[in-house]
Amino acid sequence: MSHDANCIFCKIVAGQIPSKKVYEDEDVLAFHDIHPWAPVHILIIPKRHITSMVDVGLEDQALLGRMMAVSPRLMAELGVTNGYRHVVNTGRDGMQEVMHLHLHVMGGPRPWAKG
Ligand code: AMP
Ligand code: ZN
Repeated sequence: MSHDANCIFCKIVAGQIPSKKVYEDEDVLAFHDIHPWAPVHILIIPKRHITSMVDVGLEDQALLGRMMAVSPRLMAELGVTNGYRHVVNTGRDGMQEVMHLHLHVMGGPRPWAKG
């Protein structure tokens, strides 16, 4: 599995830095965002290092599908009952800060801090 030693999310996958994990399987990991925009704000990431959507191809469709498809169950388990947002930031103009692909899933009662 590809791993970038300088990548903060690869370090979370490897257990080298802590996270508040909500879900894990062979291919994906989900954990709470450290600076939540909403009452519930999780990040769903591939365990394999993929820098951003720029690097995604058709060979990744099952992985991307899994990242999306686990989200309803996780939000339900976290008590979100009234809708949520999915956001993926890509590259500098897309406001991506962490260069390991991640799906933001944000929900819970408004008002939110951002978004
Ligand atoms: P983005 O701007 O899409 O790259 O978002 C990166 C997100 O990662 C931000 O919402 C950060 O709060 C979050 N983040 C950065 N470091 C950590 C960490 N160690 N644990 C959890 N979330 C993090
Ligand atoms: Zn990484």
